Amino acid sequence: MADQYQRNINYMRISITDLCNMRCLYCMPENGIQKKPHDALLSFEDIVSIVKASVPLGINKLRITGGEPLVRKGIIDLIGSLSEIEGINEIAMTTNGSLLTDMAEPLKKAGLTRFNISIDSLKEDRYREITRGGELKDVLSGIEKALSLDMKPIKLNTVMIGGYNEEELEDFAQLTYDKLIDVRFIELMPVGEASQWAKSKFVSNETLKKRLGLLHPLKGIAGSPARYYQLPGAKGKIGFINPISDHFCSECNRIRLTSDGKLKPCLHSNTEIDLLPMLRTNPDSIAEVLAAAIEAKPERHMLNQENAIYSSRNMCQIGG
Ligand code: SAM
Ligand code: SF4
Repeated sequence: MADQYQRNINYMRISITDLCNMRCLYCMPENGIQKKPHDALLSFEDIVSIVKASVPLGINKLRITGGEPLVRKGIIDLIGSLSEIEGINEIAMTTNGSLLTDMAEPLKKAGLTRFNISIDSLKEDRYREITRGGELKDVLSGIEKALSLDMKPIKLNTVMIGGYNEEELEDFAQLTYDKLIDVRFIELMPVGEASQWAKSKFVSNETLKKRLGLLHPLKGIAGSPARYYQLPGAKGKIGFINPISDHFCSECNRIRLTSDGKLKPCLHSNTEIDLLPMLRTNPDSIAEVLAAAIEAKPERHMLNQENAIYSSRNMCQIGG
């Protein structure tokens, strides 16, 4: 369905948990997030009902995210149920990759089509520092597993943080020579946990692009916020996602659902529509509410304005 700015909204990102087995500096408070009671969360049945209601409105692509989606029990069954919904063509997942070695294969069998794996450093100590305790070797093994399953391209998401991992730019770029891996640099956003310090550690993608030099531009991929490039002779691509310096709101095709049942027409707005009470009392109204939320999607975010109002949720509570 088209929104009021004629954007075709066909993509729903579903966060299935706020919880995570890591504590990335820019995403999660050091002591984690308080676990919500079971009845404050969407059940898997609720999620399936919402997705079924969204298909006639034009949603055909899903992304499962979190928190860390792989820490929620029963995830394989959820993917199985979603993949049976007629009209859903793609079910992707954004994950920190730490549990993929064992879970990638059952997820693929259940119907998952692609992984985006977040990794901000290729050095063990730094990886541990940025994630506050994550083990790099688990993620590297998860990436290898995903590659071996032929779920290509595997996309890696990397956030550059000034003074932390900037110097690894070339090492990440090198991965695109060695393997069929796309590496995407996401600009650090001043959201939630990072809202106070992101500006002082911000590294623009323009700076990274200049440093890499030899890149040649590729045609845009419909529905992707990344601008893609390739190094000469590389197998994979390099993508830049510039939510701050060059927002892609005019091409935005997505809505978001949080694990506690809030529908968010825009990542960077505090506008949320609470679906939980409706699911309990009047489930038939969900399609109408989804349509209204798509209609109400704002034209653009204001993050790069001087007095921007940031989303008060951490990214782990929205799903990125
Ligand atoms: N746990 C999974 C993961 O790390 O991929 C999925 C959820 S995580 C919130 C999704 C993405 O959001 C990750 O790639 C992460 O790097 C990104 N992210 C979180 N906080 C961010 C911030 N303040 N600025 C930019 N990206 C952020
Ligand atoms: Fe967890 Fe992903 Fe947030 Fe890191 S970015 S704390 S892995 S939810």
